[in-house]
Amino acid sequence: MSDEEVPVLIVGGSLVGLTTAMLLGHHGVPSLSVERHAGTAIHPRAGHFQLGTTELLRQMGLEERVRTKSLETYSATGGIIAVESLAGRELATYVKELNEGVEGFSPTVRVFINQDVLEPILREKAVELGATVRNRTEAAAVEQDDDGVSVTLRDLDAGEERTVRAQYVVAADGNRSPMRARLGIGMRGYGELSRSITIYFRADCSELLRDRNQGVIYVHNPQLRGFFRLDRAGGTGFLVINTVGEDVTQDSAIDVQSGLTEERALSYLRTAIGADMPMEIVDVANWRAEANCAERLRAGRVFLAGDAAHVVPPNGGFGGNMGVQDARNLAWKLAAVVRGEADPSLLDTYEAERLPLCELGVQQAYTRYATRVVPERGSDDVEPPVPDIELEIGHVMRSPAILSEDGDDGVVHLHPSAAGGRPGTRAPHVALPDGRSTLDLVGTDFAVLRPAGDGVDDWAPPGATSHLVDADGFADAYGLSAGGATLVRPDAVIAWRSRGPADRDELSRALATALGRSV
Ligand SMILES: Cc1cc2nc3c(=O)[nH]c(=O)nc-3n(C[C@H](O)[C@H](O)[C@H](O)COP(=O)(O)OP(=O)(O)OC[C@H]3O[C@@H](n4cnc5c(N)ncnc54)[C@H](O)[C@@H]3O)c2cc1C
Repeated sequence: MSDEEVPVLIVGGSLVGLTTAMLLGHHGVPSLSVERHAGTAIHPRAGHFQLGTTELLRQMGLEERVRTKSLETYSATGGIIAVESLAGRELATYVKELNEGVEGFSPTVRVFINQDVLEPILREKAVELGATVRNRTEAAAVEQDDDGVSVTLRDLDAGEERTVRAQYVVAADGNRSPMRARLGIGMRGYGELSRSITIYFRADCSELLRDRNQGVIYVHNPQLRGFFRLDRAGGTGFLVINTVGEDVTQDSAIDVQSGLTEERALSYLRTAIGADMPMEIVDVANWRAEANCAERLRAGRVFLAGDAAHVVPPNGGFGGNMGVQDARNLAWKLAAVVRGEADPSLLDTYEAERLPLCELGVQQAYTRYATRVVPERGSDDVEPPVPDIELEIGHVMRSPAILSEDGDDGVVHLHPSAAGGRPGTRAPHVALPDGRSTLDLVGTDFAVLRPAGDGVDDWAPPGATSHLVDADGFADAYGLSAGGATLVRPDAVIAWRSRGPADRDELSRALATALGRSV
């Protein structure tokens, strides 16, 4: 017997668990998130939020709030460089300006905002939309059958246990994912890269920053390799150290944690700053840099999302952003199945669509780690870098719920300017005459977009909303001619299009396929 029933139980109430809860709420499905910790993140961790994430925040009405919060700590135009030390020579520029090359392809911009500042915003929105978040609560055991999942929850303060019955469970329980282990899902990839540390500190580095307005500053010198993220005033922030010592092929070089004392941490900090000045260590966190992907994203009624599904080094800022995309792909599908609008087989498309992209993300994070942190190790297993924008909003997905077109070339990423509205890609951004974007037409329903014109059928099947778009460049960007139509999912992915005139039956069949219903 269960003590409580919920449609969806989410294990983990951090970045990805909270995003999933918020999105389920957006789609009208209540959820219960359980989180061991007493609150949201205590460390900044993720800071670089990519377009895929900021477009979702915009959809959720959080864009301005997040941008305002971001500016309290970071500049909107910071870049990513490498230095010998803050006081020393500049070695490389990886990203000149955070949003260079973005304009015209997205209605929003990338931001730097610390995870411990973003999470409370997500949590508040999730709760506002009907989610329950229970802290100091651990998922202690899980059992599933054909009809649902029974999860034993332990109240970590009272020590009491209760059982919750859910139709589905999302395991957003982080890189060591106890759920993943229980389900027997293995990881594959590049393995452990280093036993890294993050030193949170206070020191007045403002003079050393000079006019360098940077979001991330890599440090590369014979003593250590890692990166700084500093607030805009240069007074607080953190230093990540991935490797120490000159010979990065040595095991001791990739183990920064063993034997670490406060004195040694201070000496690392002084070396990375490159000057002696008053400095105070606030905290030191140990973590493993890894680049691995789960072999599967689903076991029965349990789905892996976020770090539970893929663990990457922070270089390039992929980890949290990939997790947000997992949540965005999964949440509307879960909601549509729970509400009885989609066939449960739709849930199989989560793995079909996301796993190749998770593997790509792991590969690309590894490329950035290898080239920015340990270039001395050589490039035998390093794939060429894919431009960031292609990894953010240039994905190409395939699954039975996406009606790919004849002549599909099989690519999994391309520049958004080349996507051309093909099924499986994110709907292109086109500015509307009222100042909004075509992406703003994507709500909780499917959206049917057609070029406006005389006699164009302003109709959408139940479960979708019709929009006749009268905007320069729209038909070209979406690859439509007069009478053509495109069907956009609630996660802004194009499910189907008819370049030329399509009748109502065709559109209804496309929607049924996009919901996993047999036609
Ligand atoms: C130094 C650093 C910098 C980074 N920078 C970036 C960046 O710039 N951009 C980016 O996108 N990513 C970045 N990341 C990665 C990012 O922090 C992670 O990818 C992100 O936190 C993953 O979120 P998650 O919700 O999947 O997992 P987590 O944040 O690990 O959360 C999992 C949660 O599950 C809880 N939990 C686990 N088991 C249970 C259980 N049985 N019951 C209840 N609760 C449980 C845990 O307490 C935890 O709170 C960085 C990471 C580090 C370390």
